[in-house]
Amino acid sequence: MQTYLEPARSLPVVAEVEVLVAGGGPAGVGAALAAARAGAKTMLLEKANALGGMATSGMMSHWSGAQQLPLLQEIIDRMRTSSSLPPDREITSDYDEKWCISHECQKTALAELLAEAAVVVQLHTWVVGVIKEGDRVCGVITESKSGREVILAKVVIDATGDGDLAAWAGVEFILGREKDNCCQPVTLMFRIGGVDYSRAIFPGSFESYIQIPKGEVQALGKKHLPPPAGHVLLYQTRLPGEVCVNMTNVTNIDGTDVRQLSQAEFICRQQMDAIILFLREFVPGYEKCYLVAAAENVGVRETRHCQGVYTITGEDILEARVFEDWIATRNYFNFDIHSLIGPGLDRNGVQKHFKSKGTYTIPYRACLPRKVDGLLFAGRNISGTHLAHSNFRVMGICLGIGQGVGVAAAVAVKQNVLPRDVDIREVQRILLANGVEV
Ligand SMILES: Cc1cc2nc3c(=O)[nH]c(=O)nc-3n(C[C@H](O)[C@H](O)[C@H](O)COP(=O)(O)OP(=O)(O)OC[C@H]3O[C@@H](n4cnc5c(N)ncnc54)[C@H](O)[C@@H]3O)c2cc1C
Repeated sequence: MQTYLEPARSLPVVAEVEVLVAGGGPAGVGAALAAARAGAKTMLLEKANALGGMATSGMMSHWSGAQQLPLLQEIIDRMRTSSSLPPDREITSDYDEKWCISHECQKTALAELLAEAAVVVQLHTWVVGVIKEGDRVCGVITESKSGREVILAKVVIDATGDGDLAAWAGVEFILGREKDNCCQPVTLMFRIGGVDYSRAIFPGSFESYIQIPKGEVQALGKKHLPPPAGHVLLYQTRLPGEVCVNMTNVTNIDGTDVRQLSQAEFICRQQMDAIILFLREFVPGYEKCYLVAAAENVGVRETRHCQGVYTITGEDILEARVFEDWIATRNYFNFDIHSLIGPGLDRNGVQKHFKSKGTYTIPYRACLPRKVDGLLFAGRNISGTHLAHSNFRVMGICLGIGQGVGVAAAVAVKQNVLPRDVDIREVQRILLANGVEV
């Protein structure tokens, strides 16, 4: 490939903080809130125009996993106090009451919580590089409308979902599935309106086989939707007549490649129109549905698995392991590997045969690079196998991981030690004091 040697230039150092969090999704929000509440001067950088990552800009239907986490409850409760929610909306189910996300209200709720914790939040900011002294990360380079700038930090947390900072810092990673680097498919979420809730069905999983007048809904989807779309996943929202649609599907995409991401966006947009026509023709209650809005970017399920001091395995989850260095607890979810070649679940059957001994914990070592210092991972990019990741990638668990990592970063700053030398008992003491239970 032809190359261009960019001339060196001086960059302004615009801030110096104790804990710097890159990425404002569930993990980044958890990390920034926890670090600031534990007393660290904290800054969060996010490329989008709002906080929440996949939970909000990604238009996710609902929070899954870690449903006993007090921080998750706090975030949901704050969203539910929003005066912008429909005033006379009847709550119809536990799902509706607790886990269903109102995207715009959730964005505002997160901004409020971070402001109250005195986190400095900078939106519209891409982190594009890391600054290292020897093996230690000590800051980041950003790009924004204000140009190229530097922010220095004692501890940097990579909550980008894709492990962008870790990769730039030289941390080893495995992309997707170990044997062939194939990643789970990507999906552009969207919302439709005009749905008649009194007659509508809401198939919430690939195994939601529902008989409707023209046949069984999943079978109809496979027959009439353009592959690799083909499954039918529809979720209630808090907005009258609106439904969250998780049905676009593009396989064989590397979410760290901008050209493949662009291609995925265009394919999803074509599928969106076909899905709406399908819903109108086949699914009761959807005869008059129409497109309201699509997510701000295609949702990426899996990319880099950063290699940490410990790598979480499927067996750890099945055995419900409680690690000595736990930082996120009481995690529970299925193995959720979507087919890597078409609609529905992976044919390996791991979801169908999932039987765990209970809830499991995330060890701090899975968030700690093997060699690079000054850097921690949080969220779906922590160290885990393809199989384990399919479980801990859900937002509730990522939020809890973020919280644990944020506290660890703050303790490292307070004790003036590297994150790898942090007193894990002190980290756990703070988490327990914040209502986390083992
Ligand atoms: C289609 C789909 C459906 C899903 N369904 C569910 C579900 O029903 N329930 C559930 O709980 N989970 C679900 N998940 C999983 C879940 O949404 C993600 O795994 C989870 O959000 C990961 O959290 P995170 O904070 O690690 O990453 P993200 O939520 O992806 O957040 C990362 C943030 O970092 C920002 N960022 C990235 N790179 C940079 C950079 N270089 N500079 C600055 N900012 C950056 C992004 O803009 C984003 O805000 C789904 C995922 C997908 C894709």
